[in-house]
Amino acid sequence: MEKETAKETVSKNFIEQMIEKDLAEGKYEEICTRFPPEPNGYLHIGHAKSILLNYGLAQKYHGKFNMRFDDTNPTKEKVEFVESIKEDIKWLGADWEDRLYFASDYFEQMYEAAVKLIKKGKAFVCDLTAEEIREYRGTLTEPGKESPYRNRSVEENLELFEKMRNGEFEDGSKVLRAKIDMASPNINMRDPVIYRVAHMTHHNTGDKWCIYPMYDFAHPIEDAIEGVTHSICTLEFEDHRPLYDWVVTELEYPHPPKQIEFAKLYLTNVVTGKRYIKKLVEDGIVDGWDDPRLVSIAALRRRGFTPESIQKFVELCGVSKANSSVDYAMLEYCIREDLKMKAPRMMAVLDPVKLVIDNYPEGEIEYLEVPNNMENPELGSRKVPFGRELYIEREDFMEVPVKKYKRLYPDNEVRLMNAYFVTCTGCEKDEEGNVTVIHCTYDPASKGGNSPDGRKVKGTIHWICAETAVEAECRLYENIVDEEKGVYNKEDGSLNLNPNSLTVVKGCLVEPELGKAEAYDRFQFVRNGFFCADCHDSKPGAPVFNRIVSLKSSFKLNQ
Ligand code: ATP
Ligand code: MG
Repeated sequence: MEKETAKETVSKNFIEQMIEKDLAEGKYEEICTRFPPEPNGYLHIGHAKSILLNYGLAQKYHGKFNMRFDDTNPTKEKVEFVESIKEDIKWLGADWEDRLYFASDYFEQMYEAAVKLIKKGKAFVCDLTAEEIREYRGTLTEPGKESPYRNRSVEENLELFEKMRNGEFEDGSKVLRAKIDMASPNINMRDPVIYRVAHMTHHNTGDKWCIYPMYDFAHPIEDAIEGVTHSICTLEFEDHRPLYDWVVTELEYPHPPKQIEFAKLYLTNVVTGKRYIKKLVEDGIVDGWDDPRLVSIAALRRRGFTPESIQKFVELCGVSKANSSVDYAMLEYCIREDLKMKAPRMMAVLDPVKLVIDNYPEGEIEYLEVPNNMENPELGSRKVPFGRELYIEREDFMEVPVKKYKRLYPDNEVRLMNAYFVTCTGCEKDEEGNVTVIHCTYDPASKGGNSPDGRKVKGTIHWICAETAVEAECRLYENIVDEEKGVYNKEDGSLNLNPNSLTVVKGCLVEPELGKAEAYDRFQFVRNGFFCADCHDSKPGAPVFNRIVSLKSSFKLNQ
């Protein structure tokens, strides 16, 4: 017991420590976190980390978790993405209850906030062009230069800002800037632009607004309005924190939220950048944003990953302040661990060759009782048909066995999984020498695959009864990029694609039970890996399975 507690104390991450301190000091009564995606694309595994982190903290400290679309930039946002993002978050298991917000619903309050800054002499309308603003900004080593419009009177600023709102100025002709410090060593503090003119239709507010707030101004206001206490974001915003603090301080919010940064999650050998994924989709290299070779949440779901496996993965990754890449094999480890006990273990033959049991009664089909998962009796059992003609994997037979080969070859006896012992008596071949039919005899006394007299067999192979077999398509995946070469081409930055990332295997034969698979049903196909019925293409009677992951891995978790 003592040990357990000690372990828990040690494993608290820096964000948890900060929250506990804030709660202990009475800084906040209850915490509130949020996930604030821009609806400009599909969510990926990195976002899952942020979602589960924010939701998990709210759960742990009995606080709230808000869902907020950060839709302050009308150029890239689409309703389609809003829907996919909601679906993905729900699927991951995060629950925002009744707190679904849109930053665009706060435009009026943001406008009021800007007016407040103007009145305090902390913001001014600037006529410099974007180019000039950049020139005036200075560099990391040189201070910036003040705008000639910086000292406009409060009245003039109020009037001009109202005119900006009323659409009297063209895009880019005027901006509102915070008046902070052009000599600040932090460039973000050199009178940053907080509002711009943009005559654009917004997906939520339509044509109501022609001025839009900039991210650095909008985000802290959104957090403050919602009563967010810990605004967790990724490291690239660290240098923006002084501006975040400046905004909430100048606007005099009674319980200002605080920004905390953590390192982004990167995975080896996968493509997460929206720009690259978009190109893969457009070039037809993948079949949409949910192609199972991608690591968008939609793709992981389609491939067969479970929310639990992703939760486990995120937990193992931990939270840190240093950027690093996590091995993709760790994600595979998590899904294997999760499905090991949950998924029924079924038989599917991916590369079938016929096996005939010559001493088995012709025309007879018997139904063998087979446990669904030897390690988990809760999954019950099923009846699997067995008959005289079966299919086995082509690789499970060798006419002339190589050294140490334990499966079928002439005169060798093996176990047909859950069924009988059989001894190979020979094979038939076509003109080209390909094996077409393998012959064997069975020992009726070995029913259930148990040795009748203590004799041992070294190999156990899986099989499918020919008469009731259902034809299936299996899709096998490798990384979409070539692991050896690295994700990006050093010369032109393009992706180093792996030409074998998808193998479509048609004509696989599966148990009748698998013919009834419904979208997202997951199974272990003995020896072949974990598979999931494809949500787009699998149909009853004509199933299509995605291989989620193979059974073996060299990955070891150091625990
Ligand atoms: P991308 O760069 O992949 O397009 P983004 O940061 O532009 O992602 P947003 O919609 O702005 O996407 O992100 C929503 C939230 O997800 C932010 O709080 C962001 O910090 C977080 N996030 C994005 N990528 C990652 C990642 N790889 N790891 C952890 N959190 C991430
Ligand atoms: Mg972004």
